[in-house]
Amino acid sequence: MRISALALTVFLAACSHTMAGAQSGQVDREIALTDMRVLSSDEMDGRQTGTDGAARARAYIAGRFASIGVQPVGTSYDRPFTYERRGDSHDGINLVGLIEGSGDSDTVMVITAHYDHMGHCGGEICNGADDNASGVAAMLAIAADFAANPPLHDIWFAALDAEEVGLRGATALVADFPVPIDSVALNINLDMLGYQEENELPAAGAFHYPFLRDRIDRAGVVEPAHLIQGYDSPEWGEQGDWTYSSDHGAFHRAGVPFIYYGVDFHQHYHQPTDEYEVMHYDFFVAATQTVVNAARLFDTELDAVQAEREAAASERVTKPGMGQ
Ligand SMILES: [Zn+2]
Repeated sequence: MRISALALTVFLAACSHTMAGAQSGQVDREIALTDMRVLSSDEMDGRQTGTDGAARARAYIAGRFASIGVQPVGTSYDRPFTYERRGDSHDGINLVGLIEGSGDSDTVMVITAHYDHMGHCGGEICNGADDNASGVAAMLAIAADFAANPPLHDIWFAALDAEEVGLRGATALVADFPVPIDSVALNINLDMLGYQEENELPAAGAFHYPFLRDRIDRAGVVEPAHLIQGYDSPEWGEQGDWTYSSDHGAFHRAGVPFIYYGVDFHQHYHQPTDEYEVMHYDFFVAATQTVVNAARLFDTELDAVQAEREAAASERVTKPGMGQ
């Protein structure tokens, strides 16, 4: 009963996508909202790592990947991993696939969004509509856009597990990326795009990778959202430096430039009230369109980003030696 309802939803989303396929560049509002609603429904039971609810969320995302045309590596999107926590070993499963680029560059980009959440809290289901059904829905919108208009570079998509227990899925993916990690010029990480009373959309990362700043500005923002670059250095305060606050942190540790799009903390953060019904739909769709546009711009300029990233990295390596 549950699975068939799930399958029907995937089927309907796929049909709807086919009908709307001609409108490339434009986010399909209904599909994006449906993805966020389904992933944050009680059926997913809070999507805690290792639970049946997380498995149902993966089944939905894998169905959406397949209907969009995201290709698995081998026969499955699943990339299982294990991690240690509090002395015990745990299992997680990332979902990873790609849309191939039309060019011959080896440089790639990876779009990430974690699908896991906290399961139950305070005796209730914590549905995690904002955190992070919204980011997964936005990632699927980027995939649909690239499927309709193929990118120049290979674009990887990763729905990551076990973010809530310390970026474990992202850490596992960085350690076991399907192509050499040095060929990943950029990680765009999406975490919490569904709720914002002031319509503020932070984009973090340019403090560490200054060559991203102008490009993030040029990628622009879609109203009613407005963009704030920052939240990526000590000057934003103890709670305001988000360098390691979500999965992009694992990429940053490996020297991969990142842009993290995600809203500030709010009253529903990690609460049972983080539900689809209280989301800010216009903001979410605008934020989703913003990240679709950004992914498009960064695909176009990815070889330049890679060159600037390599130049900056060699400068970092040589500087200490020069001072001694
Ligand atoms: Zn999150």
